[in-house]
Amino acid sequence: LEEELGGPRRDWWGLQGSADGSGLFQGVLEKGPRGTAYCAPQAWQPPCIPADLGQGLERLVQTLKDQLPATRDGWGRWTPPGLPPGPRPPEEADVVVVGGGVVGWSVAFWLKALENQRHGMKVLVVERDPTYSRASTVLSVGGIRQQFSLPENIQMSRFSASFLRNINEHLGIPNEPRIDIQFQPSGYLFLACPERAEGLEAAVRVQREEGAQVALLSPAQLKAKFPWIHTEDVAVASYGLQDEGWFDPWTLLQAFRHKAMSLGVQSCAGEVRGEEWVAGSRGTPVRSPPQPRPPKIPRVHMQDSREYQPIACAIVVNAAGAWAGELLATAGLPGRLGHPPLPIQPRKRYVFSWHCPDGPGFSCPFLVDTTGAYFRRDGIAGNYLGGMSPSEVSDP
Ligand SMILES: Cc1cc2nc3c(=O)[nH]c(=O)nc-3n(C[C@H](O)[C@H](O)[C@H](O)COP(=O)(O)OP(=O)(O)OC[C@H]3O[C@@H](n4cnc5c(N)ncnc54)[C@H](O)[C@@H]3O)c2cc1C
Repeated sequence: LEEELGGPRRDWWGLQGSADGSGLFQGVLEKGPRGTAYCAPQAWQPPCIPADLGQGLERLVQTLKDQLPATRDGWGRWTPPGLPPGPRPPEEADVVVVGGGVVGWSVAFWLKALENQRHGMKVLVVERDPTYSRASTVLSVGGIRQQFSLPENIQMSRFSASFLRNINEHLGIPNEPRIDIQFQPSGYLFLACPERAEGLEAAVRVQREEGAQVALLSPAQLKAKFPWIHTEDVAVASYGLQDEGWFDPWTLLQAFRHKAMSLGVQSCAGEVRGEEWVAGSRGTPVRSPPQPRPPKIPRVHMQDSREYQPIACAIVVNAAGAWAGELLATAGLPGRLGHPPLPIQPRKRYVFSWHCPDGPGFSCPFLVDTTGAYFRRDGIAGNYLGGMSPSEVSDP
């Protein structure tokens, strides 16, 4: 130490407080019994370093930083640039969920919520983009409706409405703030031109059979309820009376994630690209019951890196959203499992935001007009969100 300091021999070292302010040397380093030093704990005081020791100390601290093995996180450990922070993916799990959007985290939550034995199932969620820059979940307009034409969709949406209404019972965590997804109750209003009127009425019949509360409005009734709508080309409208509206999807996603992790779900950053098939499994994916199925081994690739981690697991859940088809294609499934390809592809969509102080205001429903264009209000300050899906031929 004296060599490193380059100073004259001393009988005591007056290193007080932290040499670099980091708290490494908190306390007073004193000369102890022959050849030893000990650190007597004391209340921390601002550094008071004799001037002639300053330069030597700086060199010493640098030497320690450069050469000693890690004494605390970040010291002496080098992480290649671009690698995500946090732990590496584990080598095995029971279920690997690919995609950390609302579907992925919801699956992970329900797996843990419904498992009989707590902490029994090891569930891992893999997400390649922690910023969710292209995930539909956070780019969506967050609407929930009951007005579908398939009974299954209506049933799922009825369940979802009840789930959201009681979200704190499902996703609340003791001693943490209550979840507020900013739910705005408001009916969807579908307008139909004469050619589409029959289809809309048929859908409403199915919705009512499934227990949804939906009103059919004639053009006159529509005008009376929403005087600002031009009803000339409208033959009929359907208006949701219950369990419809919109909310903040980001808050819902985070609520699922926090709750799932509190139940023991693990997560890691990385992209699943391809799957390894253990020897003997290729071409024989389906086996007779007594023989255990070979593990699936998805590979999690680190961002901007050639590193990847194979994870042995029993089940891979494809929750990759618009990239679900792409993921399946890279899985290299044996035999006929990969054919035909999953018909899911990313499509470009736009959501516009505009300010219209003289707009319909607070009573504005989630309106879907005869062309499929939609809009809803966004807050109460005259802002609106809306968009329209292009036709199949002009889809970018
Ligand atoms: C403009 C727009 C508006 C919408 N409005 C509504 C609405 O009002 N109401 C409604 O109910 N729905 C709406 N939707 C649909 C809704 O947003 C989606 O159905 C839902 O968010 C899908 O969630 P997801 O988790 O499947 O997909 P995503 O949220 O897209 O999540 C998929 C995740 O998987 C990750 N991923 C993909 N491949 C890999 C891989 N190989 N490895 C690791 N991670 C991977 C992606 O990074 C992404 O984060 C809208 C969608 C859009 C685009």
